[in-house]
Parts: sequence; C-alpha cells; structure tokens
Amino acid sequence: MRFEFTTAAKILFGPGTAREVPALAHSMGRRALVIGGRSAERTSGLIRGLQEQAVETVTFSVSREPTTEIVLEGLALARAQGCDLVIGMGGGSVIDAGKAIAALMTNPGGLFDYLEVIGRAQAVTVPPAPYIAIPTTAGTGTEVTRNAVIISPEHKVKVSMRSDMMLPRLVAADPDLTLSVPPDITACTGLDALTQLIEAFVSIRANPLTDALCREGLARAGRSLKTAYTKGDDTSTREDMMLASLFSGLALANAGLGAVHGFAAPLGGMFDAPHGAICARLLPIVMEANITALARRSPDSPALARYAEIARILTNDPGADARQGIAWVEETCAAMRIPSLDTIGMRREDIPVLVEKAGRASSMKGNPVELAKEELAAIIDKALSE
Ligand code: NAD
Repeated sequence: MRFEFTTAAKILFGPGTAREVPALAHSMGRRALVIGGRSAERTSGLIRGLQEQAVETVTFSVSREPTTEIVLEGLALARAQGCDLVIGMGGGSVIDAGKAIAALMTNPGGLFDYLEVIGRAQAVTVPPAPYIAIPTTAGTGTEVTRNAVIISPEHKVKVSMRSDMMLPRLVAADPDLTLSVPPDITACTGLDALTQLIEAFVSIRANPLTDALCREGLARAGRSLKTAYTKGDDTSTREDMMLASLFSGLALANAGLGAVHGFAAPLGGMFDAPHGAICARLLPIVMEANITALARRSPDSPALARYAEIARILTNDPGADARQGIAWVEETCAAMRIPSLDTIGMRREDIPVLVEKAGRASSMKGNPVELAKEELAAIIDKALSE
C-alpha cells in the first residue's frame, strides 16, 4: 500500500476560531485582499480585526459561483492595490475565487495557462500569495482542497486550476459562521458535503486515512444534516456539519470523487444552478447506477461493501444493505425539497452534449466502475423525470 495526503498548513476548528485569524494574519502580509460574498456585513468583523493588527484591507465581493471574468477582476484589483495576502471568507464560491487569485498573483502567464480541460493545464511553479480560508457554509470543504473550480462561460463548463501549492496557509473552520445559513442553502451545501464523503469513500483512490475521515464525516452528516435544515440555530448540528464538510474536503482532495461530480462540472457550466443542488439531485441515482453496474460487472469490487457500510452509518441500522442507503439519501433529498434537473432549464436534447463533457471531467476518473455512455445518459434521464 502507498498513499499520499496533502492538506492546508494549519487548520483551526471550533466556534469563535474566525476571530483568531487577524492576529495570525499579521505575520503573513501587510495588505490583504479580503474577499467576501454578497453580504458585506459578514466580513466586517474580520476587517476591523485586521485593521487593529495593522493589516491594511482591500475588499472584493464574489456574489455567485466564480467565472473566469470574476477571477481576473479580483486579480487586477489585488495587483493594482499591491496586496501581498489574500483572505477568502464565504461559501465555496468566495474561497475558490480567492485560491485562484492568490496563485495568479505570483505566477507568470494568465488564468488559461493553468486551467484544466479547456486551458493549458500548466503547473503552478511559484508559491501563491499567502491564502487564508474562512468557510461560512458547510459545505464544500474547499478550504482544504488544492483546486479552485471556475466557470468558463465561453466553454459552458466548470473546470479547475489545481496545485498542491494552492492549499491555504491557514483555515478557520468556525461553525458559528453557519448559524445564519438559510434552510435551502443548508440543504444544498450539506448534501454537497454528503456527496463528497460518499464519492471519496467508494473512489478507486480511497486510502485508509481518507476512509477514516469519510466514516466520521458520514456519521456526523447522518445524524445532523436533517436537523441543521429544520433547526438552523442548533449549534451542535452546525458543528457536526462543519466537521463533515471539512472531512469531505480532506477526503476528496486525497481520494478523488466520482460520477456525480463528473456531471456537476459540465452541468454547472451549462445551467445556472447551485452546485450542491445538482450534486444532491444526482447522488441517489448515481449510487443506484454504480451499485447495479458493480453487481453485474465487478461483483468482487470492495465498493459494493462500502455502499452497504454507508447505508449502515447513515441509517444507524447495523442490518441495513446498500439499497437502504440509497433510500435514506432519496428521503433526505425529498424532505429538503431538492428539485429535479428540468427546473434548472435542462432538456432531454441536452443529454448527449452533457454525457460527452462529463466523460472528460477529471472527477469521473475516481468512480468505482466505468459507466458506459448509455448508463450515463440513463442517469440524467432519471434526474430529469422523477
Ligand atoms: P456559495 O459559495 O455559492 O454560496 C451559496 C449562497 O450562500 C450565496 O448566496 C452566499 O451568499 C450564501 N452564504 C454563504 N455563507 C452564508 C452565511 N453564513 N449565511 C447566509 N448565507 C450565506 O455556495 P457553496 O455551495 O458554499 O459553494 C459552491 C461553489 O464551491 C461552487 O462553485 C462549487 O463548484 C465549488 N466547490 C469547490 C470545491 C473545491 O474543492 N474547490 C468543492 C466543492 C464545491
């Protein structure tokens, strides 16, 4: 057995840890590009704290999933303002934008030199500007992954810029920041974390360290996801979900993902829909397709036993089988009102292009079984109609 594990240099976890960031940022730079989301209020405490530590601040807002234009705009601002430190405080959109901006600030060339699939996929050679990530959703786990997901409106696809060097220097995963997340976003982001835990656990690149993280993350998501949705002010369920999200990021960055994310990359570029909602809609259908394909073509695959273990963890029933895991995910998605793909504007005519693009997505490579084009098309057909 051989495996590698790479993560952020330092991770602070717990209520109130976001308030520790300014004192630590002081040694990392003198002028910070502070990236926030739609609400300026969410970064105001951070900015005050930085100023008290004599760290100057320049603010930039990322109010949607980041596009190539947004990243280039933030980069131009950071350069024009002479920033030497980047802090992203927000959902995955904010954190990914910051990751890419910090890397481009120090590396030669432009964004397309580094983008995978549609760009030149060159290696990042110079360490990025120091980057601090403070997630406010639970979540994407992107605070501990090495890639930034960016939409290319021109190519209608989401692709990554990726490098071990892009892992943040400091992460503050503070569950209190998620207390304000409304139910619909709690649902999408929580189901994204769940998807990542499941896909990393059955990935062909899973290893004992990512397995341990997935088991713990699945247990926490299993017991707390629905309560976080119905009772958003419950601090212990928010803590569980922040840990589940963090562990999902640690796992996916080191074990890879699967077909749900293989589809999410092109779907997110072709249609304007939250990443987590797309993942949630596809998750039970992909689980079913994988289990069926594995049972037929690869009955000795360890992934089959893993799907049964996922079911036991999520349902808390030691006798549960793999299909009961699918049922648990289906019921959870229904309770959280996850819509079908036609509500985002997708039509059956889009299936061939989507299948073609998904086949090339980097995430597809971790899927526990290779799915034929017809199987991929059947997954999307089902995600549209039910
Ligand atoms: P998001 O960042 O787009 O945020 C969703 C919404 O939640 C926004 O309207 C935002 O303003 C709001 N919000 C954020 N924090 C809030 C808070 N504390 N209270 C109230 N509202 C809040 O959504 P997301 O799901 O966190 O991130 C999605 C992005 O992350 C996608 O672009 C996806 O591709 C990417 N992603 C990246 C990775 C990676 O490893 N790089 C992994 C998963 C997802």
